[in-house]
Amino acid sequence: MAKTHMRTVDGHSFEVLTANTVVIGTGSAGFCAATRLVEFGQDDVVIVTDKTNAGTSRNAGSDKQTYYKLTLAGSEPDSVREMANTLFSGGAMDGDNALAEAALSARAFLHLCDIGVPFPRNAYGEFVGYKTDHDPRQRATSVGPYTSRSMVEALERKASEQGIPVISECRVLDLITVGGEVAGVLLLRRDRDWDDVNPPLLLVRCTNVVYATGGPAMLYANSVFPHGQWGASGAGYRAGAVGKNVTEWQFGLASRRPRWNVSGSYMQVVPRFISTEADGSDPKEFLLDAIGDPGRLASLVFLKGYQWPFDIRKAQDGSSVIDLLVYRETQLRGRRVYLDFMHNIADKPFALERLEPEARDYLERAGAVQNSPIERLMHMNRPAYDFYLDKGPKVDLATEMLEVDVCAQHNNGGFAVDSWWRSNLEGFFPVGEAAGSHGVYRPGGSALNSGQVGATRAAEYIAKRRSQMPLDDAAAFDAAAAARI
Ligand SMILES: Cc1cc2nc3c(=O)[nH]c(=O)nc-3n(C[C@H](O)[C@H](O)[C@H](O)COP(=O)(O)OP(=O)(O)OC[C@H]3O[C@@H](n4cnc5c(N)ncnc54)[C@H](O)[C@@H]3O)c2cc1C
Repeated sequence: MAKTHMRTVDGHSFEVLTANTVVIGTGSAGFCAATRLVEFGQDDVVIVTDKTNAGTSRNAGSDKQTYYKLTLAGSEPDSVREMANTLFSGGAMDGDNALAEAALSARAFLHLCDIGVPFPRNAYGEFVGYKTDHDPRQRATSVGPYTSRSMVEALERKASEQGIPVISECRVLDLITVGGEVAGVLLLRRDRDWDDVNPPLLLVRCTNVVYATGGPAMLYANSVFPHGQWGASGAGYRAGAVGKNVTEWQFGLASRRPRWNVSGSYMQVVPRFISTEADGSDPKEFLLDAIGDPGRLASLVFLKGYQWPFDIRKAQDGSSVIDLLVYRETQLRGRRVYLDFMHNIADKPFALERLEPEARDYLERAGAVQNSPIERLMHMNRPAYDFYLDKGPKVDLATEMLEVDVCAQHNNGGFAVDSWWRSNLEGFFPVGEAAGSHGVYRPGGSALNSGQVGATRAAEYIAKRRSQMPLDDAAAFDAAAAARI
């Protein structure tokens, strides 16, 4: 098991922790990697993290947060190869990652079910799915708005049962490498002071680093990543790890206070979009200037419900034109944009017959034909209304407008990994959002699958091939560590 001792490096006294593997990050990918390592026989593992309760998995979600996996219900055929093709066809995704993510998706999903994530089943135990964006089948499933939180909580329980130590309040400063191989990590202890006798630093000496630090969330001011999620990409790149697709980001409409995606029902009930000057003056229904036909505009807003991310292919004559018009209003014209659930588009009575068939049929089938967006929202998805009442700051959609913008949600790129989630740096395994394994047009829910699969693959590889203790050349380690301090 991990051992701690004091060590003097370059005249400074340090707490040094030695373990076979350090997992950095307590999101769904990090906890999964740690629990899998123990299951596969490698119990010399310690988790360190900036904050145990921070990160995207535990603190973000959406109307119906999605998990993507192989079809596990019904009579429609599906196969590993076909799912791999779907992932691969999103573009800029390596075929070996796509195949591994498809091959392990059922195993990773059933692991979560077995440790208590309540994914929905029918009376016979089939995991009934639905179709998400960029999905040719019905592979998606959901626990509700907080699918990833439910995953983290179950994995954390499991890690605690396995007795895996978690050291919180440790932020990554730098990786330590010796001869192109990872040898440790230097962390800032945020719960200690520089006035203490010893510096607030923790040095970990290890054979493997599983890097589950999530996306570089602080790159964009307009972001729907949760507060307190930082990411640690810089330290990895400084150490020589290679990146891939790092400019591939996913953006979409989200409320800014609180941070939350306004996907699903929030758009399907067709609210009105209003912009104002920064001081709240000059309210205007700006979308009508660009799309004069209220029926066409309502249909495009409806589609944003399940075409949430901005997609350049839908920008010219599809629903992503809404994102562009909001962006122009906020970023180019310096105005603020709000969703108004109290009034219909153009403040006219709701006329179902003016909608295009896809929107009309859906709303008719759902019985969402009430006269105002807020009434339709209450009818279709009451928890979506309650959600904003329970948050800080509270917003009552029945009486107030909700400020929104086009926000960064996910980095599809990251560190380049092979089909065992190994980077070019020996012993360094980026998993979850930190890994650049996500394609450009990934199906909704595939990020959560990718995190579980990558964590499982890395753990399997470490347990079988890298179970040795850290480099025993203490002098080389000390010299490498001293260079980073
Ligand atoms: C609003 C929103 C909705 C989403 N909806 C979906 C969806 O429906 N389906 C889907 O598949 N994906 C979705 N995603 C993406 C998905 O949630 C993330 O890809 C996934 O949760 C990332 O998990 P992770 O374990 O890699 O990282 P995280 O859960 O972000 O965990 C990162 C961990 O690293 C720690 N950490 C961060 N920086 C440092 C540092 N410098 N030093 C030390 N520790 C650090 C954090 O404290 C945290 O413990 C959504 C994302 C958002 C923001």
